[in-house]
Amino acid sequence: MSDIALLPAVSAFLARDHGLYIHGEQVASQASARLTVHNPANGQAIAQIADANQADVDRAVDSARQGFASWSRTSPAARARVLLRLADLLEAHREELAQLETLQSGKLIGIARAFEVEQAAHFLRYYAGWATKITGQTITPSLPSFAGERYSAFTLREPVGVVAGIVPWNFATMIALWKLASALTTGCSIVLKPSEFTPLTLLRIAELGSEAGLPPGALNVVTGAGHVGKALVEHPGTDKVSFTGSVPTGIAVGQAAMGAKLTRATLELGGKNAVAFLPDVGLDKAVDGIIEAGFLHSGQICAAGERFYVHRSRLEPLLEALCQRLGQLRIGSPLDEATQFGPVANKPHQQKLAELFATARAEGNRILHGGRLGDGPGCFVEPTVILANQASDTLLNQETFGPVATFLPYDHEDELLHLMNASPYGLSASLWTNDLAKAMRLIPQIQAGTLWVNMHTLLDPAVPFGGIKASGIGREFGSAFIDDFTELKSVMMRY
Ligand code: ADP
Repeated sequence: MSDIALLPAVSAFLARDHGLYIHGEQVASQASARLTVHNPANGQAIAQIADANQADVDRAVDSARQGFASWSRTSPAARARVLLRLADLLEAHREELAQLETLQSGKLIGIARAFEVEQAAHFLRYYAGWATKITGQTITPSLPSFAGERYSAFTLREPVGVVAGIVPWNFATMIALWKLASALTTGCSIVLKPSEFTPLTLLRIAELGSEAGLPPGALNVVTGAGHVGKALVEHPGTDKVSFTGSVPTGIAVGQAAMGAKLTRATLELGGKNAVAFLPDVGLDKAVDGIIEAGFLHSGQICAAGERFYVHRSRLEPLLEALCQRLGQLRIGSPLDEATQFGPVANKPHQQKLAELFATARAEGNRILHGGRLGDGPGCFVEPTVILANQASDTLLNQETFGPVATFLPYDHEDELLHLMNASPYGLSASLWTNDLAKAMRLIPQIQAGTLWVNMHTLLDPAVPFGGIKASGIGREFGSAFIDDFTELKSVMMRY
């Protein structure tokens, strides 16, 4: 098999002199600094982008303030129509966007098509439906009147204002579209800051946003390194931060937002998500479950399973079957449709995984499969299975964000619950069993923002998603995001 041919539109886009997207058009950055975007599959430079400066950020926020003035007064039905048109345009440009995404992130082309574009378009349509359903309440005030006067009260849900959307590299297109959709459907405007590793699709999507009918300033994109995100968070013209990324950066962002002027922040961070198999689960189902939880997109998913707890009586055959299955994966170029396992997204990440493998070895963990980097200039890392010795081992506590499943056996259910919950994080977890009654009894005892039963990783726009403990603040999806992107105004009247 071989790589698919790149569309002429993709080659033409890559060859452009990339700027920023401000006030409805591509503009040159006022900074001279440029950053190189690499294809992690082969290490080749594919584009140069602007490393924006404070003047660029000022300009983008200024544009977003003007955009907010007009977009927040656009009728909910008209806002919904624009988002629906954008979803149609995403689908019309599916292959172009998927190819760009694969080139910048190393994601398998099939995953780029299915998740970054098709599923993202589905999310966009779901959010569009909310534009016309944002409501307040009428309230009968509770205190008795003094002299026969009457009171009435109601609440309004008003858009919070200009949103800074800070996006990571793992699902650079889809996560940006979630943020954009939450902001725009509620009547906010947004300045998006993509990861410096994966900025290309957003620059293209911003153009499609204008084509869909967004007014100038409703959606802006500024590219660059972390300092650009920091400047946005601290900017006096920003009313809200929606951040997805690592725990340390997320904590810094939350603190900076609060410190700046109590700027609202939704933080969707990582974790060390637990996956628990009860002894009744069959071998094949367990192997499928581990691959779904830990190896989809090479584990580069914030909700991916990282800590795997298996009943001691089942451990050995399960690990043997898992290693055998991983050994059959076809590893190769993400642009080849036959590839089942591609590179990780960038060099620093590949290096971090190498260091974690060294730590596992130093701590005496058994590496049962993988545990090495691939040869050559691409950012390949073997799918890896590790058997830890005890709960305090690094690989059971530090997020790898990679294709690494670390196992620990348990003997009793109480011990299992203790192991699952003994973590400072709580983004997701999954429980695998055929005993539904047992599952229902365990569900309230497991600490996670999202708990899957007999599945892992699937996100749905109708189901709220977000972390507890150090995995974040706030919720995306469902109706829950509306609380985060609007302010509640109470109105009380005397008559
Ligand atoms: P990763 O890139 O490993 O997912 P990060 O949390 O460092 O993790 O990055 C997520 C996003 O946050 C990226 O767009 C990055 O440029 C941005 N970023 C990094 N540092 C800061 C910061 N101090 N303030 C705001 N954004 C930042």
